[in-house]
Amino acid sequence: MSEKILVSACLLGHPVRYDGKSVPLKEIDWLQQLQQQNRLVIVCPEQAGGLPTPRDPAERQQDKIITVNGQDVTQEFDQGAQLALKLCLQHDIKIALLKAKSPSCGNQQIYNGQFNNTLIAGQGMTAELLTKHDIKVYSELEIELLKQPINRT
Ligand code: SF4
Repeated sequence: MSEKILVSACLLGHPVRYDGKSVPLKEIDWLQQLQQQNRLVIVCPEQAGGLPTPRDPAERQQDKIITVNGQDVTQEFDQGAQLALKLCLQHDIKIALLKAKSPSCGNQQIYNGQFNNTLIAGQGMTAELLTKHDIKVYSELEIELLKQPINRT
């Protein structure tokens, strides 16, 4: 059986972002093909953690996630990360394609917590938890790298 991949819902065109929009992947046809083959497990960790859409933008401040209005939403982000991990374990998933730069899904860079549009090295809470459990997280900026292991299985 072909390996399954965890995918950020917004990359597949689901309008789940904080602003109620999506950010469909440029290669969405490729992703939809995988979906038709039943190889995708789709998740929005922020919604899964109980946050509404639209919602206030939030950024990571060390181990906490704080909205632009100062609300601490760490618990919801953590719950969403745990649910994403649970899905990976249930489906024996070893690879994830998550949205870059998000405080949940970002795998290499995130915003600095000051809401001044500045990126720093770091991971969102879901990407970090999956990485800790040996799940390889790619972003949409690394799609060619991701295609190599996926097209092999
Ligand atoms: Fe997309 Fe992840 Fe943000 Fe949900 S939490 S909108 S899947 S980047």
